[in-house]
Amino acid sequence: MKTIATRNLDASPQGGDKIPVGISACLLGKPVRYNGGHSQSRLCLGELSRHFDYRAFCPELEAGFGVPRPTLRLTGDPSDPRMVFSNDASKDVTDRFKTAVADKIEGLAGLDGYILMKNSPSCGLERIKVYRDNGYPHTERTQGLFTAALRQRFPDLPVEEEGRLNDARLRENFILRVFAHHHFRRVVEDAPSLGRLMGFHRDYKYILMAHNQQEYRALGRLLAQAGKEADIGTLQAAYKKRFMAALAKPATRRSHCNVLLHILGYLKRALDGATRRDIMGVIEQYRRGEVNLATPLTLISHYVRRCGSDYIQAQRYLEPYPAPLGLRNQL
Ligand code: SF4
Repeated sequence: MKTIATRNLDASPQGGDKIPVGISACLLGKPVRYNGGHSQSRLCLGELSRHFDYRAFCPELEAGFGVPRPTLRLTGDPSDPRMVFSNDASKDVTDRFKTAVADKIEGLAGLDGYILMKNSPSCGLERIKVYRDNGYPHTERTQGLFTAALRQRFPDLPVEEEGRLNDARLRENFILRVFAHHHFRRVVEDAPSLGRLMGFHRDYKYILMAHNQQEYRALGRLLAQAGKEADIGTLQAAYKKRFMAALAKPATRRSHCNVLLHILGYLKRALDGATRRDIMGVIEQYRRGEVNLATPLTLISHYVRRCGSDYIQAQRYLEPYPAPLGLRNQL
């Protein structure tokens, strides 16, 4: 089976196109909140907006609730909550809201990520209160109704709350997943073949290893056992589901060190002993938390570019997203 060198396929948004990412409309500064205000996000409108082509969506507006409107809340069973107006719990708008979202959700196909507004009974990702009849919330929390519909329809789509993006590890992990999702769509789904899928897996080896070594091996077996007669649609869907799930947990300092040492192993014949020891010393500094991830990576990348094989140069781990985002300076 011939694998395809995915580095040669133009999947980069830097070529001109930005990556399509959905976002709660209020985060872009649109005055769609219940009181006519917004929740403009400096983070989303800053450096991220140079790489993301935002598709703003306000589900409460789409449901025709208007601006201004009374606030909404979730009530009843936390596993299947109802949506009501906070000032009049007898006005159950669940069906109206869900129907409006169902009508629009297909319009959100083709995205590579979604950034959600926190604490919203519509857009919240987690910890949303569900109220009992007595007016007190259950201890069990849930996600917003729009978010539930979005995740059900697009289970592999990277989603994150804007507030959580202030955490450097969560921010890096979300952006990594958005770029990987985009890459998968462009190089595998746009022209499905077993060769492309295997090429993708090969180029993401070290990213997968940094996140989940076991799953890296399991996905390798999944592809190796697929015969030429395998249904490529079923295979790529199964691969994508597990690949995106494996990336969802941020990589640790320890697993990054493991990957860096593996990559260094590929250079051992090209480097003299003193240079190798220098690089290992910097990896140790990173392990001890004295320098950030960008430090050993910049050093190793320098040697990979100078004397690495095509295989190691093609590893997406070396640059999974544009360097100007500066994400690895904060890890
Ligand atoms: S949180 Fe969601 S529903 Fe509420 S204003 Fe923002 S986009 Fe609209």
